[in-house]
Amino acid sequence: MTNRSEAAIQTTHRIFRADRTLGLAESVIREMTRLALQHGAVNLSQGYPDFPAPTMIKEAAKRAIDADVNQYSITWGAKKFRDALSRKLTGELGWEVDPERELTVVCGATEGMFVAFMALLNPGDEVIVFEPFYENYGPDCELTGAVPKLVSLHPPDFQFSREALRAAFTSRTRAIIINSPNNPSGKVFSREELEFIAALCREHDVLAITDEIYEHILYDGTVHIPMSTLPGMRERTVTINSCSKTYSVTGWRVGWVVAAPELTSSIRKVHDFLTVGAPAPLQEAAAEAVALPRSYYEELAAEYALRRAKLMGILGDTGFRCYKPSGAYYIMADISAFGFPNDTEFVKHLITEIGVAAVPGSSFFRNPADGAHLVRFTFCKKEETLDEAGRRLRRLKPR
Ligand code: GLN
Repeated sequence: MTNRSEAAIQTTHRIFRADRTLGLAESVIREMTRLALQHGAVNLSQGYPDFPAPTMIKEAAKRAIDADVNQYSITWGAKKFRDALSRKLTGELGWEVDPERELTVVCGATEGMFVAFMALLNPGDEVIVFEPFYENYGPDCELTGAVPKLVSLHPPDFQFSREALRAAFTSRTRAIIINSPNNPSGKVFSREELEFIAALCREHDVLAITDEIYEHILYDGTVHIPMSTLPGMRERTVTINSCSKTYSVTGWRVGWVVAAPELTSSIRKVHDFLTVGAPAPLQEAAAEAVALPRSYYEELAAEYALRRAKLMGILGDTGFRCYKPSGAYYIMADISAFGFPNDTEFVKHLITEIGVAAVPGSSFFRNPADGAHLVRFTFCKKEETLDEAGRRLRRLKPR
């Protein structure tokens, strides 16, 4: 029942809602976490670790707060962090990233992607996005007026058709989004694929906006190739990354954008007026995190390989047909064998009756029917969490 004043408030809200928000749906990924909490389900939906962040990083954050690093940092990032990042990036990329002109520290890759859209794209500009795609890219387009042009990644290897990609480039194309290692498919784009994309970017004068947040989570000897290292791509690549997945601190909201000085100058302005800056004490800790030796990243990947094997085993035993990821920490699974009408009905049953949460596959496609036979599980969880999910999943039977 709504009383009079509630009704009045609702009316006011209806009047003042901006048109650009009317097409937005709630994030399905975040909604699944809420439902998991509500129903006490083991949460294999949203991609955040349930195990602790490295002690060394936590201690560094505590020290920074005790040292009173509690006020704004420089808007585009604390100097110490940008310098440390520039050393890591220069080592990895083989070209020198200028911390004064080519780096912007932002509140997570989510802000990084959004400010890149805001700063670099005009309404009506076309942006090529591979599908299935991480769901934020849809709202990023919707809120900034960019027009997504989808190109399919085809299972089982999530290859794209060269002709389809070529055909997607038009005179209005301004950027292409490349998320490798890929969420949700686990695809890692090969050098040959990236070179093909790079050639099209150069030919059509298009920016590559890359989400490389899973760069260190790779399996079976797969190698991550940063787009900015390919010939002629340094100037036209906007690289987005963050501490979230690499250092298991998704709640810290510390990310960065690497781009040529002219692009960075626009990115910094949007970022400044949007958030002023990322959390100052956490940037101090992040400066220590990005200076960790190679062995840290090797161990991270090795631990995730064990988790991947465990969840692949559990899902296979349960009757899912799984696509084995080459990178990132998700498994796309085909639910056709269970006889449900679609992915949302299936996930609803999974959460409320079985006690395990996953993400409906449709949330990674523009046309929900294209993902109606898929769900996504994450394995960025403790061994005992995955074991508990396995015990619960034994009760799942075909309809
Ligand atoms: N990338 C994570 C996922 O796909 C979630 C990120 C987020 O919710 N901001 O589950």
